[in-house]
Amino acid sequence: MTIITVVSNFIIEPTIFKMYINNIQHLLDASEKMSEEMPKGVRELIGFLTLIIDTTTTNISQTLTTTNVKCFEKGCSGLIKTALRPDTGEIHWYCPECENEGLISDWQKTKWDNSAGNK
Ligand SMILES: [Zn+2]
Repeated sequence: MTIITVVSNFIIEPTIFKMYINNIQHLLDASEKMSEEMPKGVRELIGFLTLIIDTTTTNISQTLTTTNVKCFEKGCSGLIKTALRPDTGEIHWYCPECENEGLISDWQKTKWDNSAGNK
């Protein structure tokens, strides 16, 4: 007879993920001031975030919805899910593949804002 031991006190590894909280205005200001010296990674991140603003404000959803924006993480082919938080107005984005996620604030009235309030 095989005795199966049930381990009840197993340790749940804390989920490790990177949370990016970006006030997009700060990033854009920085990119104007130091466009030449700006590391490639930061420029890529700005491009990624502005694409997310563009997509999310076109198809506004309060629940995480898959977009056609690809994750910026190297080697990750995940498609980003985004949602517009009704309470704070922040854009929440999340990659289901690598679990990168972040919040974008102050995206309103940027040139990527397609929401009705801007038109
Ligand atoms: Zn990813």
